[in-house]
Amino acid sequence: MYSSRIESLPPYLFAEIDKEKQKVEQQGVDVIDFGVGDPDLPTPEHIVDELCNAARDKSTHSYPSYRGLESLREAITQWYDERFGVELDPESEVLSLIGSKEGIAHMPLAFVDSGDKTLVPDPAYPVYKIGTILSDGEPVQMPLREENSFKPNLDEVDEEDAEEAQIMYLNYPNNPTSAVASRDFYRDVVDFAKKYDIIVCQDNAYSELSFGDFEPPSFLEVDGAREVGVEFHSLSKTYNMTGWRLGFVVGNKEVITGLGEVKTNVDSGVFEAVQRAGIEALTSSQECVERNVEIYEERSNLLMEGIESVGLEPKKPRATFYIWAKVPSGYDSMEFTKELLEEAGVVTTPGVGMGEYGGGYVRFALTRNKERIKEAVERMEEL
Ligand SMILES: *Cc1c(COP(=O)(O)O)cnc(C)c1O
Repeated sequence: MYSSRIESLPPYLFAEIDKEKQKVEQQGVDVIDFGVGDPDLPTPEHIVDELCNAARDKSTHSYPSYRGLESLREAITQWYDERFGVELDPESEVLSLIGSKEGIAHMPLAFVDSGDKTLVPDPAYPVYKIGTILSDGEPVQMPLREENSFKPNLDEVDEEDAEEAQIMYLNYPNNPTSAVASRDFYRDVVDFAKKYDIIVCQDNAYSELSFGDFEPPSFLEVDGAREVGVEFHSLSKTYNMTGWRLGFVVGNKEVITGLGEVKTNVDSGVFEAVQRAGIEALTSSQECVERNVEIYEERSNLLMEGIESVGLEPKKPRATFYIWAKVPSGYDSMEFTKELLEEAGVVTTPGVGMGEYGGGYVRFALTRNKERIKEAVERMEEL
């Protein structure tokens, strides 16, 4: 009944943890869940207000334009220039997306033929790999190892795989490892992509969630990047808008055109009222983002203590809302996740669920409030 595409999807590795969580909850334990990469904080009020106003305007009720409102594409280019110093053409280098996941998943439909390869980081957000499989492509993993600061080692990519690859996915600041990338790394990526004629898709969903002085760069800041790739952005994490489904992709014209071709034929764009709320988010004061970042930083500092007390070796994140921690020796990530759930009622994401090379790590998402974090830390300290 199902297509071979569906049949070939990898098993859902979190099912085991979900079942275990249910069991523990049924025993009456008040489970604290750090597994969810979805902000617990609400969308800022001025953005909600703009949605309400725009929804009352009848002109937003029809099919939207495929590429996104001109005013949204202009707001995006203005934001991009202010934030990254990169000037984009709103006509040809910007496309709105129904959440960045949608665009990421559709990329292979535009550029991957049956049997073509894509280079996919491991561990990673699952959509890069799955989007490839759904297009009958073959994902080739690029291991992210701690000794290489969770960057793929480009020298290690098999020559034949590089020749046959159409797309390379990257994601910095990174989910799940919270690693960040420098412009120097992106320069190496541009050279590699030019050599092998590969489209780079850099996923910058966490560009605004960074701590201290660190400001994540855009891939497009680097010379030549626009010739080889695009960058995906999302309003989901920056403005606590995961439910709204609004993202965008910017960069190489031909790539944008190809992805737009797929989208024109499978969806009809983003509800215009949501687009107008997106304009409000991007063009009004960014103080709400600063507040968000402060909250995550405070949470991160609080949770670090508890994590260390159970023998994990966490790295303090410079960006994203994840803490990635090495499990104590003698454990694998699944065992450790189960033990922490059973002994402390604390849920984490086992690294192996995000890919083979995530084994030996667990991920905490900072999407629970201070009180819950304190409670979790107390429980972990008692172990
Ligand atoms: C959350 C997340 C996204 C955002 O997806 P949307 O579809 O825009 O909500 C994209 N990439 C990564 C790595 C993420 O963690």
